Amino acid sequence: MNHLAMVMNQEQLQVPGFNRKYLFKFKPRQYSRGFFITYLMERRQFIQQSALALAILSIYKSNAFANGTQQAYQFKPLRNNIGVFTEQGGTIAWLNSSEGFAVVDSQFPNPAAHVIDELKKLGGNPFKYLLNTHHHGDHTGGNIAFKGLVEHVVAHENSLKNQKSTAEKANSLDKQLLPDLSFGNKGWKTKLGGEKITAHYFGAAHTNGDSVYHFENANIAHVGDLVFNRRYPFIDTANGANIRSWINVLDQISNKFDNNTLFVFGHARDPEKITGNKADIAAFKNYLQSLLDFVSKEVKAGKTKEDLLKATQIPGAPEWQGDGIARSLTAAYAEITSK
Ligand SMILES: [Zn+2]
Repeated sequence: MNHLAMVMNQEQLQVPGFNRKYLFKFKPRQYSRGFFITYLMERRQFIQQSALALAILSIYKSNAFANGTQQAYQFKPLRNNIGVFTEQGGTIAWLNSSEGFAVVDSQFPNPAAHVIDELKKLGGNPFKYLLNTHHHGDHTGGNIAFKGLVEHVVAHENSLKNQKSTAEKANSLDKQLLPDLSFGNKGWKTKLGGEKITAHYFGAAHTNGDSVYHFENANIAHVGDLVFNRRYPFIDTANGANIRSWINVLDQISNKFDNNTLFVFGHARDPEKITGNKADIAAFKNYLQSLLDFVSKEVKAGKTKEDLLKATQIPGAPEWQGDGIARSLTAAYAEITSK
């Protein structure tokens, strides 16, 4: 298993850009499909590992048939029949329970079709829930692929409102599958197979409608875009984002979950770091606090917004890099100068 994990790590490449895509280069001469199957058959706990085998083979297969583009997705188990899927847009999480599937977020229509295909390969269970962390198109654009397939689409009431109003403005309501089950600030919970799923709402942050979905028995929490791991965040002021409140939300998350909680993040600079622990929550909180401190200091010193936008790094948070610092600076400037 370590060997296979190593092969995967070495061969993941990252393409810079707004919508991060993951590429896998496989070397069929070195690692034939027969190699994978033989390797896995020899494992003592073949049944437990069959999900991993499927995940690896699916990557292999999609590359083998990609005719040179070598663009593919990753479908990977984490623990307790829960895993992640990455292709284009915010990280998807999935649960394969004895009573059916639950999927957190849906990226765009094409990747959504891929995750649906992969889950169907795991068995004929029904699709019970599609859970949206928030309304942004890279998390809900693929909802439409679940139309007629999933029993319920679930989101916080603000996420539903935002998804609807954004689609109305863009005249694209026909391309949406809106949540039929929305919850308020007290959250929502359900049982599915042996798993308990709880939705938490902690207040305004990246938008005014961000939820955390906790798979309690597995102790896996999908925090959506409440964490941009080592990557400059989008701060959606037009849809109720607030940096000060976001910091408070991250404190609540730190208090709510424990050191064994495995977090799934909406976005990460390193494609390997779409999961993490409480230290990553604390690091992102430090980024947001450093951003506010820096912009407050600069505004007090009489700097204009244009001066501010020349910054290439936030002092105190050097791990946050890449494109998009202007979005952080603009949002922080607006928040600080508006009071
Ligand atoms: Zn978002």
